[in-house]
Amino acid sequence: MTQTADVVVIGGGIIGCACAYYLARDGHRVVLVERGEIASGAASASGGWVVIQNKETPDRVSLALASRRLYDDLVEDAGVQVLATGGLILATRGGDGQTLHQQADVARAGGAVVEELDGSRLHELEPALSADLMGALHCTDEGVVDPPAVCRTLARRAIALGAIIRADTVVTGIEVDHGRVTKITTSKGTVATRTVVCAGGAWSSQIGAMVGLEIPVTPRRGHLIVTEVEGMVRRPMLEAGYLAIPDDGRPDDPHGLRFILQPRVDGRCFIGSTREFAGFDQDVNLDLVRRMQAHAARFVPAVAQSAIARVTVGFRPYTPGGRPLIGRAGPEGFVVATGHEGEGVTLAPLTGKMVADLVAGRVHLHALPVQERVG
Ligand SMILES: Cc1cc2nc3c(=O)[nH]c(=O)nc-3n(C[C@H](O)[C@H](O)[C@H](O)COP(=O)(O)OP(=O)(O)OC[C@H]3O[C@@H](n4cnc5c(N)ncnc54)[C@H](O)[C@@H]3O)c2cc1C
Repeated sequence: MTQTADVVVIGGGIIGCACAYYLARDGHRVVLVERGEIASGAASASGGWVVIQNKETPDRVSLALASRRLYDDLVEDAGVQVLATGGLILATRGGDGQTLHQQADVARAGGAVVEELDGSRLHELEPALSADLMGALHCTDEGVVDPPAVCRTLARRAIALGAIIRADTVVTGIEVDHGRVTKITTSKGTVATRTVVCAGGAWSSQIGAMVGLEIPVTPRRGHLIVTEVEGMVRRPMLEAGYLAIPDDGRPDDPHGLRFILQPRVDGRCFIGSTREFAGFDQDVNLDLVRRMQAHAARFVPAVAQSAIARVTVGFRPYTPGGRPLIGRAGPEGFVVATGHEGEGVTLAPLTGKMVADLVAGRVHLHALPVQERVG
């Protein structure tokens, strides 16, 4: 059976659901195609920190902040739940203080409100933290969401606005005629359309290949522990230098282990995390899980005794330049919204809005250098 749509979105993760919502809100007839269930990709194995202060440049802080503001709108307009917790970057030793000071300058230049805390102020805020910590950077704009719940809420809202969600349906091909997208083929029929949004996360290069486009996204695997301990800390936190893992595919530690801990909406905690290039290997590495727990206990001692409820393994969509790819690329009508690596939850609302603005002709963006386009 052939269906028709103004726009087909491929992928029912947080990026695809945000795109479907904003496109449907603009009045487009949207079909979202997801090969599994909604939120069965990275969202199901992800933390939910809307993180603003740990960016490398002020422009990236501003983008994260803009997306955080859109989350506030989504609370009103779509019923998304956001916990306004604030967040912390922790200093373990003297040298980290200087790192946090520089990070504070970048965050402030990008428009974020951040406060530098000494050790005693930090322990007032979070008594469960190790007494050895020297201080922290505190950003009150940050918050926490439940990524699968955000996906499902946006998908439901998109349906209410007229979108069709086709789960358990694999996109197998994209037809191009005279240099423009005309149709997608799936495991359950075809959809005729003039616009396709690739929101395939770590699988986006496979979708790009369907139109002869090389999308430079590879999976960057991450483990997260979910603990039974409730109410251990009130806000998400990570160690200074969390992202200081070389971007060229050769992490300093083979598993890229760094401390991050986030209270969940349901009161449990996420403890992470790791960054590895290991293809789509979904196996849990138990030695690594033990190392994660031991490393986290240096920051929050109670973690050493906490029972592990489960461990998730997910695939961040990594790009060599470390930036998301959002815009037109390849044949006419093909739009890319992928490559968010470790900030897809943070940037989902902004990405969805940018894609809707692009499709409506309100902005013009190219995701890849023009010479990489085909058709
Ligand atoms: C351990 C970990 C912790 C993280 N913590 C945070 C955090 O705290 N804050 C933050 O901002 N970000 C975080 N992230 C990053 C964030 O989870 C990702 O950037 C984001 O979820 C990517 O969303 P996506 O929609 O692009 O990809 P996905 O959620 O992977 O969605 C892509 C979807 O496309 C579907 N698909 C692929 N191919 C096809 C096809 N041919 N046909 C149909 N469907 C297809 C897949 O099934 C999948 O559901 C974390 C990630 C990990 C792994």
